[in-house]
Formats: sequence, C-alpha cells, structure tokens
Amino acid sequence: MPELDVMTERQTPAADSPPGTGTGKPLSVTGLRKTYGGGVTAVDEVSMEIAAGEFVTFLGSSGSGKTTTLMMIAGFCEPDSGSIVVGGRDVTRLAPQKRGLGFVFQQYLLFPHMTVWENVAFPLQLRDIPKAELRRRVGETLEMAGLSGMARRRPRELSGGQQQRVALCRALVYRPPVILMDEPLGALDKKLRDQLQTEIKRIQRELGLTVIYVTHDQEEALVLSDRIAVMRDGRVDQFDTPRELFERPRTPFVADFLGAANFLAGHVEEQTPDHTLVRLDTGGLLKARPQTAQAPAQTPRVRAAVQPGRLGLCPAGQGFCTGTVETVTYVGTLVRVTVRPAGGADTEPVRLELPAGRAPAPGERVGLTADPDDVSVFPDSVSAPELGVPAPEQGR
Ligand code: ADP
Ligand code: MG
Repeated sequence: MPELDVMTERQTPAADSPPGTGTGKPLSVTGLRKTYGGGVTAVDEVSMEIAAGEFVTFLGSSGSGKTTTLMMIAGFCEPDSGSIVVGGRDVTRLAPQKRGLGFVFQQYLLFPHMTVWENVAFPLQLRDIPKAELRRRVGETLEMAGLSGMARRRPRELSGGQQQRVALCRALVYRPPVILMDEPLGALDKKLRDQLQTEIKRIQRELGLTVIYVTHDQEEALVLSDRIAVMRDGRVDQFDTPRELFERPRTPFVADFLGAANFLAGHVEEQTPDHTLVRLDTGGLLKARPQTAQAPAQTPRVRAAVQPGRLGLCPAGQGFCTGTVETVTYVGTLVRVTVRPAGGADTEPVRLELPAGRAPAPGERVGLTADPDDVSVFPDSVSAPELGVPAPEQGR
C-alpha cells in the first residue's frame, strides 16, 4: 500500500507557518503524459496551475485518466514527459515520500491491530515528533474529525464512515501542504458521503490545505470544489469554477456531464456581437448569447445546449418551441417535466426542472423559454457516443 511508504518521510511539520495563513502550497503540472503498454494513452498533455489552499477536483468517467494523473503527482507512477512543481520545487524525479504530499485512497487500510489513536499517531512517530507534541496533534486532529470518544477503539469496532474519518486523520495529522484523495468516499452510502464531504471541506478550509480530489460523481465535485478539471480520454476538457463549467461550458461534453444539458439541433440564422440566433429544426428561433470560443457561423449545423433547470414555461405558441407535456415527476421540491416538441416527432423530448409549484399537467400544450445567457451553441461536429452518460466507476 503506497500510503505507508509516504509515512516514512521525515519532514519538519508545517506547524511553523503562522496561524490563519493555511498550510497549503501551490502546485503546477505541465505537459504530463503517460502511455501504458499496449499503446493506451492514459494521460495526454495535462497542464494546470493550482493555487495554495485551493480545492481542485478531477472529474471524469471511469478510464478518463484521473487516477493516473494523481499517481504521477504523488510519484507512484512515472510520467513519460512533463513536470510537477510543488511550492516552487520541481518534484518530478523525487520519490513519493520526498514530495511532502498526503494521501487518502478509497481503500483506507488502517492497521487492524492498532487503536484509532495509534493509527493516527503512526505518521508522527515515524517522524520522531516529541511525545507531548504528538499527543497534542493527535488529540486535536481526532477532535476535529469528531472521533475523540473513539480513540481506544480498533478499526473493526468502527463504522465505515468512522474508519474513513480515521484514514483522513492519519493523512491530516502531519499537516501535508497538499493532500491527494482518490475517490475516498466511493465505498460509503449517500448519507455518510454527504456528511464526510462537509467534514472534508470544513477541515480543508480551516487548515487552508491544498487538496486534489478525484471523483466520477458530478454532485460531489460541485459541492467540494473551488475548481473542477473535467477529464475525458486523458485530457482536461475544461478547468474552471463549478459556476463557469455550468454556465459557460466549452465543449458539449462538459455541458452534458455537468448538468445533463438538452441539446437542440438547428443552424445559425444570425450572428451579431450581441447574440446568436439559432433556427431550430423544430421551427422555432432560439436566442443565445454571443459566441466567442467557437465559430458556429462556419459550421452550418449547430447544437444549442440548455440545462433543464434553466428552461421556463410560457403560453403555447410563444417562446422558442411549443410542445406537449409528456411526463411530470416530483422530486422533492422540484418537478422534472418532459415536453415533446410539436413538429419534431423524431426529436428527443426537452427536459425541464421547475419548482414544484409551477408544474404543468401531462398533455398540456406549453411554450418553452430560455434566457439567452443560459444558451451555449456548439458546432455539430461531435458524434453521439461522445455525449454518452458516464459509465459507473469500476472501483479502480
Ligand atoms: P480513472 O481513474 O479516470 O478511472 P485511470 O487513470 O485509472 O482512469 O485509467 C486511465 C486509462 O489507463 C484507462 O484506459 C485504463 O484502463 C488505463 N490504465 C490504468 N492503469 C493502467 C495500468 N497499470 N496498465 C495499463 N493500463 C492502465
Ligand atoms: Mg480511478
């Protein structure tokens, strides 16, 4: 288990940084590349700058290169090319234990014969931390994670969530300036996951840690991250804040992956500095914000992307599309509605998410509206499979 190697590192604890400034360090990777035997390019030219104290998530479906990228940063996997700099120091050729990074993996191997206290104290013992200091640090870390009452228990006397918290404490106790986490909550049920997400976020903020977190779960990424790198086929499609990814997706893949966008086929009818007008195949005219990243005018066919939560209803005959309500599904305070566009028998129904109070009735004829600012336009050059829903993670 690589986690244990890291603990042989003997570095001065970062307790010397003044309180309040955080212990995190900036990290940058440039042109990282990894090809495995058999010609699989797992990671292809990944570059990013991560600020000190930032919470960054690698988000992508299974096989998109998240773990390989993280393992190269950690030093457990040698890149074919590229470099990794932590806190201004080039660590590309350093052994994992010399990089000053902490790890939490999905498989949190605690020492079964040791108590919670002993498990958490272990990394400090390896570092020859004086006894009094060790006691103080272990006590503080356990308290922060709400485990003070369980210090004498052994891992088998704890629930899954508690064990995962101990693993987190063991990584946090020596205050690494950067913590890498690979699907650390993947094995837990939803309620526990939600609870631990909050814990992780709180601890990260409190200590000002730099965190790189890997998940295939969009919601988890949105909840935790300052910025998200959306990965696909070993590349980063977009590295941005959750809001930018949602509101300004740069590729159809990002629009679909982050919010299950509706894609409406059509062509550009007019393009001005203020807006783009898309004539939909179903006949209506959809106004989108001006497009800069792409040049849809050069590709006659486009797809306009709108998140279900950004669509509104209006009287039939108005808006960019009129259709018939097919399904109405209540999901708590939200209602999911599908509308079959008139004159588009073979087009996908449009999906909406509305406040429950505004639900239409099945069979009702309605019009659809969207704020131009919520509409992204993409050249229609991407094949359908690329928009596929992510496959469930295979537990790598
Ligand atoms: P993720 O963590 O996003 O699921 P990985 O980084 O584990 O993705 O894998 C990226 C690609 O590299 C996949 O196609 C995977 O099959 C391949 N891969 C990962 N590890 C190895 C390995 N040790 N040997 C060969 N191929 C690998
Ligand atoms: Mg993985």
